[in-house]
Amino acid sequence: MPGFELFGETEKAQVNDVLESGVLMRYGFDGMRNGHWKARSLEEALASRMQTKHALLVSSGTAALTVAMAAAGIGAGDEVIIPNFTFVASFEAVLALGAVPVMVNIDDTLTLDPSAVEKAITERTRAIMPVHMCGSMADLQALSAIAKSHGLLLIEDACQAIGGSYQGKPLGSYGDLGCFSFDYVKTITCGEGGALITNNTGFYRNADHYSDHGHDHIGYDRGAEKHPFLGYNFRISELNAAVGLAQIARLDEFLAIQKSNYNSLRQALESVSGITFRRVPEGGVENYSFLNFFMPDQLSAARAKKALSEAGLDGCFYWFDNNWHYHRKWDHFKQLKTLGPVSKEVLEGLPQFSDAHFEASDHWIGRNISCLIKLGWTEDEVHSRAAKMAEVLRKIP
Ligand SMILES: *Cc1c(COP(=O)(O)O)cnc(C)c1O
Repeated sequence: MPGFELFGETEKAQVNDVLESGVLMRYGFDGMRNGHWKARSLEEALASRMQTKHALLVSSGTAALTVAMAAAGIGAGDEVIIPNFTFVASFEAVLALGAVPVMVNIDDTLTLDPSAVEKAITERTRAIMPVHMCGSMADLQALSAIAKSHGLLLIEDACQAIGGSYQGKPLGSYGDLGCFSFDYVKTITCGEGGALITNNTGFYRNADHYSDHGHDHIGYDRGAEKHPFLGYNFRISELNAAVGLAQIARLDEFLAIQKSNYNSLRQALESVSGITFRRVPEGGVENYSFLNFFMPDQLSAARAKKALSEAGLDGCFYWFDNNWHYHRKWDHFKQLKTLGPVSKEVLEGLPQFSDAHFEASDHWIGRNISCLIKLGWTEDEVHSRAAKMAEVLRKIP
């Protein structure tokens, strides 16, 4: 998955443009910047590739989630439904706004289970946030129908699935707002960075202002700009945007490599009895950043993870035991360990998360192995890896 694997001359050339002018900021300094607007150009390229009216770059994927929700008016006490298999950024972003993250089960897509979402809706629910984990998507048609019938926002976290699609639409563009991360280990990278996309011009304008202290970005004098509402600083720098501008031009090249490597591994594992694969919703195309499969039970999955590591097959994750991606080890969240006092809305609104509620997620994640697909493997490396994986997994009792 990581764009850093294929970092080269085009990235350096883009960064050099910025270094030569010395304008490291995305706004202003028009006369000094030799016509280079890296953040703006990357936004144009992203909106065009994702077929949306608008794209806004920010400082990280976590910032993108925060700004997206803020732009849509989510705030204190509002409930946002998130999956309990995700990255910690999901609940961090919700909490940052004083809103309440409500975790629910996933299904065999490894993303939000629509029926679990429906059950979690209350009068305080404002948004559903599917997270397209490990390269594949949630059932967006079902989730969108639920969102519409309850008057909720659908905000897609497509940080791990950029370039995938659903019913012909790029992931991130299906909901009201979609978010990407360009951190160092994502499919394409800015070093650090993120973006949101939307067709809603009001949300875009809010996001544009909010991510830059509320500046309305009207006119040529930053000091004279008005502030229609309060904001914060989630800006990206021109240096980071320059890296991303080179990388987005290579997105489709990266996806083709991932797909080919993924198919080689998958073909080999299909011959191993007992192994099944994650369900991809009908009409969905993965971005092939991970190959996810299920072992027959939790014990065999734990054994498979150990055997793969011992055979030197790196990059295969057993999320069930992972601190970052699965609810079981999020004690800091479940016990609300914060540095300062927590707002009354969050304190009173946060559900009591007890592991007993998440049997369905445990059933799927407990059996899942998730293998990172690298861009840098040679053809020989892919084929020997595929053969070795199948050999190791065939021996798991
Ligand atoms: C990486 C990631 C994020 C956060 O992105 P950062 O740029 O690292 O802040 C959010 N959600 C998911 C699913 C991610 O994988």
